[in-house]
Amino acid sequence: MTERITFGGCLCGAIRYQGHGEYHVVHCHCSDCRQSSGAPFVTWASFRKEDFRFTKGATREMEHEGKLRGFCAACGTTLTFRTGPDAGEWDVTVATFDHPESVMPRAHIWTSDRLPWIKLADGLQTYPRSRS
Ligand SMILES: [Zn+2]
Ligand SMILES: [Zn+2]
Repeated sequence: MTERITFGGCLCGAIRYQGHGEYHVVHCHCSDCRQSSGAPFVTWASFRKEDFRFTKGATREMEHEGKLRGFCAACGTTLTFRTGPDAGEWDVTVATFDHPESVMPRAHIWTSDRLPWIKLADGLQTYPRSRS
């Protein structure tokens, strides 16, 4: 079985990454994702820790409420999220994939924080908070 490799990186090119086997592709409407990205919501895909790596540069991580949000220190692109330094997975922003169209979001999470002028019409499952 050959697995598709996902490539991506930040706007300025200082950071490049690759991974495979992404899962849990969701739109997150939580207020922390919104503020840290500067966008109304963020689309994330999860990779198992061992299936994701940086091939050029690395994110600078900022701790907020115990969670690590990673961005490019040069251009500010929002790239990663981890629940902590020993987390078993990396969440990566799908919009920084070279081919974001290659994955399909499956749900909206944290819709309790959704901005009222974002109208959901894609029929995907919604979760008021996290999936679990
Ligand atoms: Zn950059
Ligand atoms: Zn979020």
